[in-house]
Amino acid sequence: MALIVQKYGGSSVGNPDRIKNVASRVAQYRARGDRLVVVVSAMSGVTDNLIKLAREIIPLSSEREMDMLLATGEQTTIALAAMALHALGVPAVSLTGAQAGIVTDGVHTKAKIRNITPKQVHAWLDSGHVVIVAGFQGQTPEGQITTLGRGGSDLTAIALAAALRADLCQIYTDVEGIYTADPRIVPGALKLDQITYDELLELAGAGAKVMQLRSVEFAKKFSVIFEVRSSLNDNPGTIVKEENKSMEDVVIRGVSLDKNQAKITLIGVPDRPGMASRVFKALADAAINVDMIVQNISHGAASPTTDLSFTVDKPDLLKSQKVIDGLKKDIGFRQVIPNEAIAKLSIVGVGMRSHSGVAARMFETLALEGINIDMISTSEIKVSVVLDLAKGEQAMRAVHAAFLKS
Ligand code: ADP
Ligand code: ASP
Ligand code: MG
Repeated sequence: MALIVQKYGGSSVGNPDRIKNVASRVAQYRARGDRLVVVVSAMSGVTDNLIKLAREIIPLSSEREMDMLLATGEQTTIALAAMALHALGVPAVSLTGAQAGIVTDGVHTKAKIRNITPKQVHAWLDSGHVVIVAGFQGQTPEGQITTLGRGGSDLTAIALAAALRADLCQIYTDVEGIYTADPRIVPGALKLDQITYDELLELAGAGAKVMQLRSVEFAKKFSVIFEVRSSLNDNPGTIVKEENKSMEDVVIRGVSLDKNQAKITLIGVPDRPGMASRVFKALADAAINVDMIVQNISHGAASPTTDLSFTVDKPDLLKSQKVIDGLKKDIGFRQVIPNEAIAKLSIVGVGMRSHSGVAARMFETLALEGINIDMISTSEIKVSVVLDLAKGEQAMRAVHAAFLKS
Protein backbone atom coordinates (compact mmCIF):
# COMPACT_ATOMS: atom_id res chain seq x y z
CA MET A 1 0.00 0.00 0.00
CA ALA A 2 1.72 3.15 -1.21
CA LEU A 3 1.43 6.64 0.24
CA ILE A 4 1.07 9.02 -2.68
CA VAL A 5 1.14 12.82 -2.67
CA GLN A 6 -0.58 14.27 -5.72
CA LYS A 7 -0.74 17.96 -6.57
CA TYR A 8 -3.26 19.45 -8.98
CA GLY A 9 -2.55 22.95 -10.30
CA GLY A 10 -4.97 25.75 -11.11
CA SER A 11 -6.09 24.65 -14.55
CA SER A 12 -6.50 21.04 -13.38
CA VAL A 13 -9.13 22.30 -10.92
CA GLY A 14 -10.25 25.23 -13.08
CA ASN A 15 -13.97 24.37 -13.24
CA PRO A 16 -16.44 21.91 -11.68
CA ASP A 17 -15.85 19.29 -14.39
CA ARG A 18 -12.10 19.46 -13.90
CA ILE A 19 -12.56 19.06 -10.14
CA LYS A 20 -14.76 16.01 -10.78
CA ASN A 21 -12.05 14.67 -13.09
CA VAL A 22 -9.48 15.07 -10.30
CA ALA A 23 -11.82 13.29 -7.90
CA SER A 24 -12.22 10.30 -10.21
CA ARG A 25 -8.45 10.04 -10.73
CA VAL A 26 -7.94 10.12 -6.97
CA ALA A 27 -10.71 7.56 -6.51
CA GLN A 28 -8.98 5.22 -8.98
CA TYR A 29 -5.73 5.31 -7.03
CA ARG A 30 -7.61 4.78 -3.80
CA ALA A 31 -9.42 1.78 -5.28
CA ARG A 32 -5.98 0.20 -5.79
CA GLY A 33 -5.44 0.50 -2.05
CA ASP A 34 -3.14 3.54 -2.08
CA ARG A 35 -3.26 6.19 0.64
CA LEU A 36 -3.60 9.66 -0.82
CA VAL A 37 -2.72 13.18 0.16
CA VAL A 38 -3.96 15.59 -2.49
CA VAL A 39 -2.67 19.15 -2.66
CA VAL A 40 -4.74 21.58 -4.72
CA SER A 41 -4.19 25.11 -6.01
CA ALA A 42 -6.75 27.84 -6.38
CA MET A 43 -8.89 27.50 -9.53
CA SER A 44 -7.01 29.07 -12.45
CA GLY A 45 -7.24 32.85 -12.52
CA VAL A 46 -8.53 33.11 -8.95
CA THR A 47 -5.26 34.21 -7.34
CA ASP A 48 -4.66 36.75 -10.11
CA ASN A 49 -8.17 38.12 -9.64
CA LEU A 50 -7.70 38.44 -5.89
CA ILE A 51 -4.48 40.39 -6.48
CA LYS A 52 -6.31 42.62 -8.94
CA LEU A 53 -9.07 43.25 -6.42
CA ALA A 54 -6.52 44.30 -3.81
CA ARG A 55 -4.81 46.63 -6.29
CA GLU A 56 -8.14 48.32 -6.93
CA ILE A 57 -8.34 49.14 -3.24
CA ILE A 58 -4.71 50.21 -2.73
CA PRO A 59 -1.61 49.97 -4.97
CA LEU A 60 0.72 48.60 -2.30
CA SER A 61 -1.25 46.61 0.23
CA SER A 62 -0.24 45.25 3.61
CA GLU A 63 1.37 41.89 2.96
CA ARG A 64 -0.33 40.32 5.95
CA GLU A 65 -3.74 41.25 4.54
CA MET A 66 -2.63 40.05 1.11
CA ASP A 67 -1.97 36.59 2.54
CA MET A 68 -5.31 36.60 4.31
CA LEU A 69 -6.92 37.35 0.94
CA LEU A 70 -4.87 34.99 -1.25
CA ALA A 71 -5.26 31.99 1.06
CA THR A 72 -9.01 32.01 0.33
CA GLY A 73 -8.37 30.81 -3.25
CA GLU A 74 -7.01 27.45 -2.17
CA GLN A 75 -9.53 27.15 0.64
CA THR A 76 -12.35 27.21 -1.91
CA THR A 77 -10.78 24.39 -3.94
CA ILE A 78 -10.08 22.01 -1.05
CA ALA A 79 -13.71 22.09 0.02
CA LEU A 80 -14.97 21.58 -3.54
CA ALA A 81 -12.51 18.72 -4.14
CA ALA A 82 -13.59 17.01 -0.91
CA MET A 83 -17.24 17.37 -1.99
CA ALA A 84 -16.43 15.88 -5.38
CA LEU A 85 -14.91 12.84 -3.68
CA HIS A 86 -17.93 12.54 -1.39
CA ALA A 87 -20.11 12.51 -4.50
CA LEU A 88 -18.19 9.40 -5.59
CA GLY A 89 -18.64 7.80 -2.18
CA VAL A 90 -15.00 8.29 -1.19
CA PRO A 91 -14.32 9.47 2.36
CA ALA A 92 -12.31 12.67 2.11
CA VAL A 93 -11.48 15.63 4.28
CA SER A 94 -10.11 19.08 3.47
CA LEU A 95 -7.38 20.75 5.53
CA THR A 96 -5.94 24.25 5.34
CA GLY A 97 -2.15 24.58 5.34
CA ALA A 98 -2.26 25.41 9.03
CA GLN A 99 -4.38 22.36 9.82
CA ALA A 100 -1.93 20.21 7.85
CA GLY A 101 0.78 21.44 10.23
CA ILE A 102 2.71 23.61 7.78
CA VAL A 103 4.64 26.12 9.88
CA THR A 104 6.40 28.99 8.12
CA ASP A 105 8.43 32.07 8.93
CA GLY A 106 6.64 35.43 8.98
CA VAL A 107 7.73 36.79 5.59
CA HIS A 108 4.25 37.40 4.23
CA THR A 109 3.60 36.60 0.53
CA LYS A 110 6.83 34.57 0.24
CA ALA A 111 7.09 32.69 3.50
CA LYS A 112 9.54 29.81 3.90
CA ILE A 113 8.46 26.52 5.42
CA ARG A 114 10.17 25.99 8.77
CA ASN A 115 8.74 22.61 9.66
CA ILE A 116 5.76 20.38 9.13
CA THR A 117 3.99 18.41 11.84
CA PRO A 118 1.27 16.64 9.90
CA LYS A 119 -0.53 15.15 12.90
CA GLN A 120 -4.00 15.73 11.49
CA VAL A 121 -2.93 14.38 8.08
CA HIS A 122 -1.76 11.11 9.65
CA ALA A 123 -4.88 10.81 11.77
CA TRP A 124 -7.25 11.27 8.81
CA LEU A 125 -5.20 8.90 6.63
CA ASP A 126 -5.31 6.29 9.40
CA SER A 127 -9.08 6.53 9.49
CA GLY A 128 -9.26 5.79 5.75
CA HIS A 129 -9.72 9.30 4.37
CA VAL A 130 -8.27 10.95 1.34
CA VAL A 131 -6.69 14.11 2.74
CA ILE A 132 -7.01 17.24 0.61
CA VAL A 133 -4.57 19.98 1.59
CA ALA A 134 -4.68 23.63 0.52
CA GLY A 135 -1.52 24.41 -1.40
CA PHE A 136 0.44 27.66 -1.21
CA GLN A 137 -0.34 28.45 2.45
CA GLY A 138 0.93 27.94 5.95
CA GLN A 139 0.88 29.55 9.36
CA THR A 140 3.52 31.23 11.51
CA PRO A 141 4.19 29.82 14.99
CA GLU A 142 2.12 32.81 16.21
CA GLY A 143 -0.87 31.75 14.12
CA GLN A 144 -0.68 34.26 11.25
CA ILE A 145 -1.72 32.96 7.82
CA THR A 146 1.10 33.10 5.26
CA THR A 147 1.56 32.19 1.60
CA LEU A 148 4.60 30.60 -0.01
CA GLY A 149 5.13 32.73 -3.13
CA ARG A 150 3.42 32.38 -6.51
CA GLY A 151 3.18 28.78 -7.67
CA GLY A 152 3.67 27.75 -4.05
CA SER A 153 1.34 24.74 -4.17
CA ASP A 154 4.23 22.87 -5.76
CA LEU A 155 6.21 23.54 -2.59
CA THR A 156 3.36 22.35 -0.38
CA ALA A 157 3.28 19.06 -2.29
CA ILE A 158 7.03 18.46 -2.28
CA ALA A 159 7.40 19.43 1.38
CA LEU A 160 4.50 17.20 2.41
CA ALA A 161 5.96 14.32 0.38
CA ALA A 162 9.23 14.77 2.30
CA ALA A 163 7.56 15.13 5.70
CA LEU A 164 5.27 12.13 5.17
CA ARG A 165 8.05 10.08 3.52
CA ALA A 166 5.68 9.45 0.63
CA ASP A 167 6.42 6.63 -1.81
CA LEU A 168 5.44 8.77 -4.78
CA CYS A 169 5.01 12.48 -5.51
CA GLN A 170 3.07 13.40 -8.62
CA ILE A 171 2.61 16.96 -9.87
CA TYR A 172 -0.39 17.05 -12.18
CA THR A 173 -0.64 19.99 -14.54
CA ASP A 174 -1.95 21.08 -17.95
CA VAL A 175 1.04 19.83 -20.00
CA GLU A 176 2.41 16.28 -20.21
CA GLY A 177 5.64 16.99 -18.39
CA ILE A 178 8.68 19.20 -18.61
CA TYR A 179 9.60 20.16 -22.15
CA THR A 180 12.74 21.54 -23.77
CA ALA A 181 10.89 24.89 -23.82
CA ASP A 182 7.44 26.16 -22.91
CA PRO A 183 5.31 24.26 -25.46
CA ARG A 184 2.95 27.24 -25.63
CA ILE A 185 5.70 29.45 -27.03
CA VAL A 186 7.80 26.90 -28.92
CA PRO A 187 5.54 24.48 -30.80
CA GLY A 188 8.46 22.12 -31.57
CA ALA A 189 9.39 21.67 -27.89
CA LEU A 190 10.08 18.08 -26.87
CA LYS A 191 8.90 16.31 -23.73
CA LEU A 192 11.78 15.17 -21.51
CA ASP A 193 11.71 11.70 -19.88
CA GLN A 194 13.92 12.96 -17.09
CA ILE A 195 15.69 16.07 -15.89
CA THR A 196 18.10 16.75 -13.00
CA TYR A 197 17.19 18.90 -10.02
CA ASP A 198 19.95 21.35 -11.01
CA GLU A 199 18.70 21.74 -14.57
CA LEU A 200 15.12 22.24 -13.47
CA LEU A 201 16.32 24.71 -10.83
CA GLU A 202 18.04 26.76 -13.49
CA LEU A 203 15.05 26.53 -15.85
CA ALA A 204 12.60 27.46 -13.10
CA GLY A 205 14.86 30.27 -11.92
CA ALA A 206 15.00 31.48 -15.49
CA GLY A 207 11.26 31.78 -15.85
CA ALA A 208 9.95 28.32 -16.85
CA LYS A 209 7.04 28.47 -14.48
CA VAL A 210 6.21 24.81 -14.87
CA MET A 211 7.49 24.27 -11.28
CA GLN A 212 8.01 26.84 -8.56
CA LEU A 213 11.75 27.41 -8.06
CA ARG A 214 11.67 26.96 -4.31
CA SER A 215 9.83 23.67 -4.58
CA VAL A 216 12.66 22.28 -6.71
CA GLU A 217 15.25 23.54 -4.20
CA PHE A 218 13.34 21.76 -1.48
CA ALA A 219 13.07 18.55 -3.53
CA LYS A 220 16.80 18.57 -4.16
CA LYS A 221 17.64 19.21 -0.52
CA PHE A 222 15.46 16.35 0.71
CA SER A 223 15.96 14.08 -2.34
CA VAL A 224 12.27 13.98 -3.19
CA ILE A 225 11.98 12.31 -6.59
CA PHE A 226 8.84 13.56 -8.32
CA GLU A 227 7.00 13.26 -11.61
CA VAL A 228 5.41 16.13 -13.56
CA ARG A 229 2.51 14.81 -15.66
CA SER A 230 -0.84 15.68 -17.18
CA SER A 231 -4.12 15.62 -15.28
CA LEU A 232 -5.94 15.03 -18.57
CA ASN A 233 -4.42 11.72 -19.70
CA ASP A 234 -2.41 8.75 -18.42
CA ASN A 235 0.79 9.33 -20.39
CA PRO A 236 3.99 9.08 -18.38
CA GLY A 237 5.44 12.47 -17.51
CA THR A 238 8.93 13.73 -16.65
CA ILE A 239 10.88 12.33 -13.70
CA VAL A 240 12.90 14.88 -11.74
CA LYS A 241 15.86 13.45 -9.81
CA GLU A 242 19.56 13.61 -9.01
CA GLU A 243 22.00 13.62 -11.92
CA ASN A 244 23.46 10.41 -13.29
CA LYS A 245 26.31 9.99 -15.76
CA SER A 246 24.22 9.56 -18.92
CA MET A 247 22.49 12.89 -18.36
CA GLU A 248 25.67 14.78 -19.27
CA ASP A 249 25.54 13.57 -22.88
CA VAL A 250 22.93 16.19 -23.68
CA VAL A 251 24.46 19.68 -23.97
CA ILE A 252 21.29 21.74 -23.61
CA ARG A 253 18.31 20.32 -21.75
CA GLY A 254 16.04 23.31 -22.21
CA VAL A 255 15.43 26.96 -23.02
CA SER A 256 13.35 29.34 -20.94
CA LEU A 257 12.05 32.86 -21.16
CA ASP A 258 11.28 35.06 -18.18
CA LYS A 259 8.96 37.96 -18.96
CA ASN A 260 8.38 38.67 -15.31
CA GLN A 261 11.52 40.67 -14.66
CA ALA A 262 12.08 44.40 -14.63
CA LYS A 263 15.32 46.33 -14.81
CA ILE A 264 16.31 49.25 -12.62
CA THR A 265 19.25 51.42 -13.61
CA LEU A 266 20.86 53.86 -11.19
CA ILE A 267 22.69 56.59 -13.09
CA GLY A 268 25.63 58.42 -11.55
CA VAL A 269 26.34 56.28 -8.50
CA PRO A 270 29.54 57.52 -6.76
CA ASP A 271 32.23 54.94 -7.53
CA ARG A 272 33.35 54.35 -3.94
CA PRO A 273 33.59 51.19 -1.85
CA GLY A 274 30.38 50.25 -0.10
CA MET A 275 27.87 51.73 -2.56
CA ALA A 276 26.74 48.45 -4.12
CA SER A 277 26.56 46.85 -0.72
CA ARG A 278 24.24 49.61 0.55
CA VAL A 279 21.92 49.26 -2.43
CA PHE A 280 21.67 45.49 -2.32
CA LYS A 281 21.49 45.24 1.45
CA ALA A 282 18.51 47.62 1.48
CA LEU A 283 16.79 45.51 -1.19
CA ALA A 284 17.57 42.28 0.65
CA ASP A 285 16.24 43.74 3.89
CA ALA A 286 12.96 44.40 2.06
CA ALA A 287 12.92 40.71 0.95
CA ILE A 288 13.38 41.69 -2.70
CA ASN A 289 15.22 39.14 -4.84
CA VAL A 290 17.76 40.64 -7.20
CA ASP A 291 18.72 38.47 -10.14
CA MET A 292 21.19 39.95 -12.62
CA ILE A 293 23.55 42.81 -11.80
CA VAL A 294 25.70 44.81 -14.19
CA GLN A 295 27.96 47.71 -13.21
CA ASN A 296 29.43 49.88 -15.96
CA ILE A 297 32.99 51.19 -15.96
CA SER A 298 33.18 54.49 -14.15
CA HIS A 299 33.41 57.91 -15.77
CA GLY A 300 34.70 61.26 -14.51
CA ALA A 301 38.22 61.40 -13.07
CA ALA A 302 37.77 63.77 -10.11
CA SER A 303 34.73 62.20 -8.46
CA PRO A 304 34.06 59.12 -10.58
CA THR A 305 30.56 57.79 -10.94
CA THR A 306 29.21 54.60 -12.42
CA ASP A 307 25.85 53.23 -13.62
CA LEU A 308 24.39 50.21 -11.89
CA SER A 309 21.69 48.04 -13.44
CA PHE A 310 19.93 45.11 -11.86
CA THR A 311 16.79 43.06 -12.37
CA VAL A 312 14.01 42.25 -9.91
CA ASP A 313 10.71 40.40 -10.23
CA LYS A 314 8.19 42.68 -11.93
CA PRO A 315 5.74 42.63 -8.99
CA ASP A 316 8.58 43.91 -6.78
CA LEU A 317 9.32 46.90 -9.03
CA LEU A 318 7.25 49.49 -7.13
CA LYS A 319 8.58 48.30 -3.80
CA SER A 320 12.16 48.33 -5.15
CA GLN A 321 11.79 51.88 -6.42
CA LYS A 322 10.56 52.93 -3.00
CA VAL A 323 13.58 51.32 -1.34
CA ILE A 324 15.95 52.96 -3.85
CA ASP A 325 14.29 56.37 -3.43
CA GLY A 326 14.94 56.02 0.29
CA LEU A 327 18.68 55.70 -0.42
CA LYS A 328 18.95 58.73 -2.69
CA LYS A 329 20.02 61.22 -0.02
CA ASP A 330 22.53 58.85 1.50
CA ILE A 331 24.17 57.63 -1.73
CA GLY A 332 23.59 60.57 -4.04
CA PHE A 333 23.02 58.93 -7.43
CA ARG A 334 21.58 61.14 -10.15
CA GLN A 335 18.66 59.26 -11.61
CA VAL A 336 16.68 56.00 -11.41
CA ILE A 337 15.36 54.46 -14.62
CA PRO A 338 12.88 51.59 -14.31
CA ASN A 339 12.28 49.41 -17.38
CA GLU A 340 9.52 46.82 -17.49
CA ALA A 341 9.97 46.01 -21.18
CA ILE A 342 12.66 43.38 -20.79
CA ALA A 343 12.81 39.59 -20.97
CA LYS A 344 15.45 37.12 -19.88
CA LEU A 345 16.30 34.21 -22.16
CA SER A 346 18.28 31.28 -20.76
CA ILE A 347 19.70 28.00 -22.00
CA VAL A 348 20.34 25.24 -19.46
CA GLY A 349 22.09 21.87 -19.44
CA VAL A 350 24.52 19.92 -17.23
CA GLY A 351 26.33 18.96 -20.45
CA MET A 352 27.60 22.55 -20.70
CA ARG A 353 30.26 21.65 -18.17
CA SER A 354 31.93 19.36 -20.68
CA HIS A 355 31.10 21.11 -23.97
CA SER A 356 32.59 24.44 -25.05
CA GLY A 357 31.27 27.18 -27.36
CA VAL A 358 27.70 27.05 -26.09
CA ALA A 359 27.43 30.75 -25.18
CA ALA A 360 29.07 31.79 -28.46
CA ARG A 361 26.52 29.79 -30.41
CA MET A 362 23.65 31.38 -28.50
CA PHE A 363 24.99 34.92 -29.11
CA GLU A 364 25.56 34.17 -32.79
CA THR A 365 22.00 32.89 -33.15
CA LEU A 366 20.66 36.11 -31.62
CA ALA A 367 22.93 38.24 -33.82
CA LEU A 368 21.60 36.50 -36.92
CA GLU A 369 18.08 37.39 -35.78
CA GLY A 370 19.19 41.00 -35.31
CA ILE A 371 18.41 40.89 -31.59
CA ASN A 372 20.45 43.04 -29.23
CA ILE A 373 21.79 41.67 -25.93
CA ASP A 374 21.42 44.01 -22.96
CA MET A 375 22.88 42.01 -20.04
CA ILE A 376 24.60 38.61 -19.77
CA SER A 377 25.09 36.24 -16.88
CA THR A 378 26.30 32.66 -16.72
CA SER A 379 26.51 29.79 -14.28
CA GLU A 380 28.16 26.41 -14.67
CA ILE A 381 25.11 25.03 -16.44
CA LYS A 382 23.28 28.14 -17.70
CA VAL A 383 23.72 31.15 -19.98
CA SER A 384 21.19 33.99 -19.61
CA VAL A 385 20.74 37.18 -21.58
CA VAL A 386 18.43 40.14 -21.06
CA LEU A 387 16.81 41.49 -24.20
CA ASP A 388 13.88 43.58 -25.40
CA LEU A 389 10.57 42.10 -24.22
CA ALA A 390 9.05 42.45 -27.68
CA LYS A 391 11.79 40.21 -29.14
CA GLY A 392 11.66 37.59 -26.38
CA GLU A 393 9.57 34.90 -28.03
CA GLN A 394 11.28 35.25 -31.40
CA ALA A 395 14.64 34.89 -29.63
CA MET A 396 13.44 31.83 -27.74
CA ARG A 397 12.25 30.04 -30.88
CA ALA A 398 15.50 30.81 -32.71
CA VAL A 399 17.70 29.60 -29.85
CA HIS A 400 15.57 26.48 -29.38
CA ALA A 401 15.89 25.68 -33.06
CA ALA A 402 19.68 26.18 -32.91
CA PHE A 403 20.19 23.75 -30.01
CA LEU A 404 17.19 21.44 -29.80
CA LYS A 405 15.83 20.60 -33.20
CA SER A 406 13.28 17.76 -33.16
P1 ADP B 1 -0.24 24.59 -12.63
O1 ADP B 1 -1.42 25.50 -12.61
O2 ADP B 1 -0.60 23.16 -12.86
O3 ADP B 1 0.68 24.78 -11.45
P2 ADP B 1 1.50 26.16 -14.26
O4 ADP B 1 0.78 27.07 -15.18
O5 ADP B 1 2.08 26.72 -13.01
O6 ADP B 1 0.55 24.94 -13.94
O7 ADP B 1 2.65 25.38 -15.04
C1 ADP B 1 2.37 24.70 -16.23
C2 ADP B 1 2.70 25.60 -17.40
O8 ADP B 1 4.11 25.82 -17.42
C3 ADP B 1 2.42 25.02 -18.75
O9 ADP B 1 1.09 25.28 -19.14
C4 ADP B 1 3.44 25.69 -19.66
O10 ADP B 1 2.87 26.70 -20.44
C5 ADP B 1 4.43 26.30 -18.70
N1 ADP B 1 5.82 25.96 -19.00
C6 ADP B 1 6.84 26.84 -19.05
N2 ADP B 1 7.98 26.23 -19.38
C7 ADP B 1 7.70 24.92 -19.52
C8 ADP B 1 8.47 23.78 -19.86
N3 ADP B 1 9.79 23.87 -20.09
N4 ADP B 1 7.85 22.58 -19.91
C9 ADP B 1 6.54 22.49 -19.67
N5 ADP B 1 5.75 23.52 -19.36
C10 ADP B 1 6.31 24.74 -19.28
N1 ASP C 1 -2.69 29.84 -6.39
C1 ASP C 1 -1.30 30.20 -6.22
C2 ASP C 1 -0.80 30.95 -7.43
O1 ASP C 1 -1.55 31.16 -8.37
C3 ASP C 1 -0.43 29.02 -5.91
C4 ASP C 1 -0.34 27.96 -6.99
O2 ASP C 1 -1.13 27.96 -7.93
O3 ASP C 1 0.54 27.10 -6.87
O4 ASP C 1 0.32 31.37 -7.45
MG1 MG D 1 2.18 26.17 -11.01
